Amino acid sequence: MTKKLITVIGATGAQGGGLARAILADKTGEFSVRAVTRKPDGDAARALAAAGAELVSADLDDVESVKRAFDGAYGAYCVTNYWEHMSPDKEIAQAKNLADASKASGVTHVIWSTLEDTRKRVPVSDERMPTLHGRFKVPHFDTKGESDAQFDPARTTYLATSFYWENLIYFGMNPKPDASGKLGFVLPMGDKKMPGIAAEDIGKCAYGLFKRGATAIGQHLGIAGEHLSGAQMAQALSQALEREVHHTDVPPAVFRSFGFPGADDLGNMFQYYAEFADEFCAARPLADSRALNPELLTFAAWLGKYKSKIPLS
Ligand code: NAP
Repeated sequence: MTKKLITVIGATGAQGGGLARAILADKTGEFSVRAVTRKPDGDAARALAAAGAELVSADLDDVESVKRAFDGAYGAYCVTNYWEHMSPDKEIAQAKNLADASKASGVTHVIWSTLEDTRKRVPVSDERMPTLHGRFKVPHFDTKGESDAQFDPARTTYLATSFYWENLIYFGMNPKPDASGKLGFVLPMGDKKMPGIAAEDIGKCAYGLFKRGATAIGQHLGIAGEHLSGAQMAQALSQALEREVHHTDVPPAVFRSFGFPGADDLGNMFQYYAEFADEFCAARPLADSRALNPELLTFAAWLGKYKSKIPLS
């Protein structure tokens, strides 16, 4: 049987890597993987090739290279990495290149990894949070949501992702000791719940969408492993780490003032999460996420696998 080819953008990263590994692990499955990277000699690319992926070099800044990567593919997983450059204009241009290339190459099923355009609920004129880069409230969200319109709904599933729990390992969101040595987990959301997910599960859910096929095309859906408040996350951390972790709540304005690159963007994001918690969680239903990916991890299960990687200083 000839397998249907899925071109995976970001295959060497968290989202695309999860999808590539999910497809490659399913030896009897109907799909094969073309992994896109700018670094075919890198360790992550070599590991994918060793597991059976075809490797292709392409750069999202170069639409012709993306068209070549999509040539002959049935499906395409499309993700952009805002944090590599932190330029809204660049992310929007890269998303347009993905959308244009998928149309030009005649890809049947595109999954666009997106997030809400927060300006639909908090217009730029709304002063509850600062406007950033002149026309955004949460730049790394708004760029993706604004880019939805570039993609062809007759071939696209719009997949809204969630906060990766891996941010506690790699993105500075780990519990940190206060002056007395007690660990505090900072989440500036009061008692509101935040959808979170194991990064690997995003790719597994995407694989479920490719398997679902035509019925998924044109759909907007969101995924999460669990919806938890800061206090609930701190409690799960305490249990897993066998050391007390308390939830440290700070106002979003204080988070914005932390000064690290992107603190203003993330402060606005947490404020949006908190103020629209009901809508944001409802857009990421847990049962539907589990239907796409029966292996979906809860936070406690994620901690069971990865707690030793969380820095505690
Ligand atoms: P990641 O693990 O940081 O890896 C980035 C991937 O993108 C790599 O595979 C990289 O490929 C590829 N890439 C970046 N720029 C490229 C370019 N110009 N051309 C070709 N490939 C390029 O990324 P990720 O976490 O999977 O996805 C990042 C996105 O996730 C961000 O936009 C972020 O907003 C979004 N997101 C993050 C979270 C979170 O909680 N952290 C939650 C939801 C959504 P090579 O380096 O191999 O070329």
